[in-house]
Amino acid sequence: MADTKFSKVDFSKYFQPPSLKDARRRRREAVQIINDFSIPEDMNTIGKGKNYLIETYGCQMNEHDTEVMAGILEEIGYTETKEATDADVILLNTCAIRENAENKVFGHIGHLKTLKLERPGLILGVCGCMAQEEVVINKILAKHPQVDLIFGTHNIHRLPQLLKEALFGKEMVVEVWSKEGDIVENLPQARRGHFQAWVNIMYGCDKFCTYCIVPYTRGKERSRHPEEIIQEVRELARKGYKEITLLGQNVNAYGKDLPDMENYGLGNLMDEMRKIGIPRVRFTTSHPKDFDDHLIEVLGKGGNLCEHIHLPVQSGSSDVLKIMGRGYTRERYLDLFHKIKDTVPNASFTTDIIVGFPNETDEQFEETMSLVRECQFDGAFTFIYSPRAGTPAARMKDNIPMEVKKERLQRLNTLIDELSAKSNAKYQDQVVEVLVEGESRKNSEVLSGHTRTNKVVNFRGPKSLIGQLVKVKVTDAKTWSLDGEWQKEAEAANL
Ligand code: SF4
Repeated sequence: MADTKFSKVDFSKYFQPPSLKDARRRRREAVQIINDFSIPEDMNTIGKGKNYLIETYGCQMNEHDTEVMAGILEEIGYTETKEATDADVILLNTCAIRENAENKVFGHIGHLKTLKLERPGLILGVCGCMAQEEVVINKILAKHPQVDLIFGTHNIHRLPQLLKEALFGKEMVVEVWSKEGDIVENLPQARRGHFQAWVNIMYGCDKFCTYCIVPYTRGKERSRHPEEIIQEVRELARKGYKEITLLGQNVNAYGKDLPDMENYGLGNLMDEMRKIGIPRVRFTTSHPKDFDDHLIEVLGKGGNLCEHIHLPVQSGSSDVLKIMGRGYTRERYLDLFHKIKDTVPNASFTTDIIVGFPNETDEQFEETMSLVRECQFDGAFTFIYSPRAGTPAARMKDNIPMEVKKERLQRLNTLIDELSAKSNAKYQDQVVEVLVEGESRKNSEVLSGHTRTNKVVNFRGPKSLIGQLVKVKVTDAKTWSLDGEWQKEAEAANL
């Protein structure tokens, strides 16, 4: 464990930058399960009468980490505020996956300088994946002395202690561990949703895709014990939650590191989820390499397992996939895709795609386009490649001109739009089940939710439907969403 105090003289002692060499030597015996999280007595009421604000960037994993930090802060007396001007503690839970996400965070840190000058007692903290990067820490140290606290993804459970040091110490507190990570159970969680919840099933990633920073910022793959997960999901079911999403950077590797549980994987866990009284169960994010036949077989049983598969492909060219270090070929991806589609015929599929990876030729990009056409994806997150410092791909020449990258992205997005519209058209006049999540962002008179296949549905109905599963008849299938009419009679008939 690193010491907790940063001093310019001893910087290397307090910050252990993630190392590719060490990360590649990961061993399973390094994982420790910490079951005895507790808050020291002298910190129990440290936040009484004070407010906190956590701003979250990036993926669901970060959103869920924020729920844990909020839970810890509330346990020690803090109350949540939405206004930065009311906050006594502001934490920026950051994302390192793309450069523009980082730029946004630095812009925001700059803006908060004024607030810090007005309110010197304010504690400003930076945490999450960016805090695991040496270059980021150096930049904060050099240019942003208004930051009081920096901590990484492995020591969230030490938030009370770190906060205390920031409150009573005079120097910036930096605690970032490069260790490969433990599993801390029993952490408090202030869940943001009352009917949808995220449940971590594993942490970290060992895939080392050459463009990705996650294996360095989130540590090695480590799975929670199934009993802990099942217990947490049962508790959510008891509280009336309608939908859970099992979370991990690479959920298909779930179980591989569990001692004494040979061959226990995501398929087994999903089979357990089927027996729990939660209407909808999802999982993310999948990696095609580890997606096994047992999981496909279990998904085929349906029940509460939702028919939506997010299966990131990244590229349709085997040569590009090889340089990306993805561990599968175009042919293997397509085999897997069709196997799942045959077993779960109603499934919708979404994917992630990077265009303009170093050396990607026009022909290789066309292979991506043809794969997308073959899979007829319902939607895709598409990105222009940009190098992340510290990854192997960042050492390759980023040699595709920006205008070529943009042109490829535009063509790809046009195709994805067409496919999405085509897939949505199939829902015209169908009655679908919708979990009503709240008011539509564009119109507060309209309610919005998702189908089991993850399609957005907008319709009019009373606000009391929020949090309920309702039937909606699709009246207008658009490119990215479905408009519909609430089937009030269908609800009444079910009563
Ligand atoms: S599977 Fe690849 S892209 Fe996904 S988190 Fe792991 S290294 Fe990153």
